[in-house]
Amino acid sequence: MAGRAGLSVEETRAYEIMDATTLRAWLGADEALRSLLGGSPQQWRVREVGDGNLNLVFLVDSSHGALCVKQALPYVRAAGPKWAMPAQRAFFEHAYYAAVAPHVGARIPRIHRFDPQRYCIVMECLAPHIILRRGLMAGQRYPASAAHIGEYIARASFFTSDWAGRFERRFDGIALFAANHPLVRITVDLVFTDPYCASARNRHTSPQLDATVAALRADAALKAGAARFGQKFITAPQALIHGDLHSGSVMVTDADTRVIDPEFAFYGPIGFDLGAYFGNLLLSWYSQPGHATAANDRRAYRDWILEQARELWLSFRACFGTLLETHAAGDAFPRAMFGRAEDAASLAAERARFLDSLFQDMLGFAACKMIRRIVGFAHVADFETIADAALRARCERGALAMARALLTRPQDFATLDAVLAQVPRMELA
Ligand code: ADP
Ligand code: MG
Repeated sequence: MAGRAGLSVEETRAYEIMDATTLRAWLGADEALRSLLGGSPQQWRVREVGDGNLNLVFLVDSSHGALCVKQALPYVRAAGPKWAMPAQRAFFEHAYYAAVAPHVGARIPRIHRFDPQRYCIVMECLAPHIILRRGLMAGQRYPASAAHIGEYIARASFFTSDWAGRFERRFDGIALFAANHPLVRITVDLVFTDPYCASARNRHTSPQLDATVAALRADAALKAGAARFGQKFITAPQALIHGDLHSGSVMVTDADTRVIDPEFAFYGPIGFDLGAYFGNLLLSWYSQPGHATAANDRRAYRDWILEQARELWLSFRACFGTLLETHAAGDAFPRAMFGRAEDAASLAAERARFLDSLFQDMLGFAACKMIRRIVGFAHVADFETIADAALRARCERGALAMARALLTRPQDFATLDAVLAQVPRMELA
């Protein structure tokens, strides 16, 4: 089990879990926040809306304005106090926002305040935004979302990598975020280990997927592929990454896209963030038959989802490529070494090689993220809300087949077209 054993009575007492009353008093004592909301704290409406596994999330609004307050609990919310989880993760969530804010503009919520004693972040209330995963389940289109996220990952990762800056800065970042290891441990266990072993935390659609899951756990080549990416996850501090950038960590409107919930942040492989988003788009694709109705068979919508997967990679690649042209001033391939016109082709080839390696990482991490959502601890609403277990299992089986192909036959997926062409072929597998 990740983390320590359960909390002591003292620890539970020392920690002030917020409720509507304490939240009103605390926000009301902050002049700036009080004037942002206006009126008297008694008139503010407070709702706890957290739907995640870990934290409390309050929305506070008045006739003047609104705020969102996220509080990290000293345990895993979904499991209760017996599964302790250091609330310091709120510090890293805040530190991530602070680190990427200069580079990603308004793609993150505006941060108003961080209280390290209460483990509370006060931020902009995103409205009328909804969680992207919910929108994808409802068959809604968000035309700019994938390109926004591709550019977001490009900018956040480029500017925290050695392509942009001196290695000392990245080393300082590595040292700071290294203490977020309890969250990294969750990923190591729940994404890269448990799904491939017998673990009490695992579950799957049973009995329909029993044989498929048994075969997965007996597939040595598949496990080697997953373990290779598991090792890469903890040994490739390329840049500051979000660490949990799936469609449940993105809030959208028709025109706007925001990234939230970076509590898993640390210095890791850039492909992990790309893979989280890419893999969750593929999960959405495979789940669509479970959401089809007589009025909407979701076929056209599925095509749109695959176009979003394409858009994610192309926008990432284009944006990172442009930044390499315009802002490469760091220790990676130092400019001073490649100043002559004759050096340009070699430098361009090296940069392309780097981007190609991120593409392969994206696919491998996407596959790991897909598998864990079907046979591991935390599942996704895309599948969970399909009431017909036989239909759900069919959807999940397709996704597992695709993930398995990505991990065991990477040589077949050298191009984006090859990947996207394979997705529908795995449906009936
Ligand atoms: P957790 O870390 O527990 O998963 P999240 O940061 O994902 O928590 O937030 C949980 C939910 O709270 C989100 O799914 C979203 O519905 C809501 N939420 C989070 N941040 C905001 C925000 N800034 N504005 C509006 N709603 C938010
Ligand atoms: Mg979270």
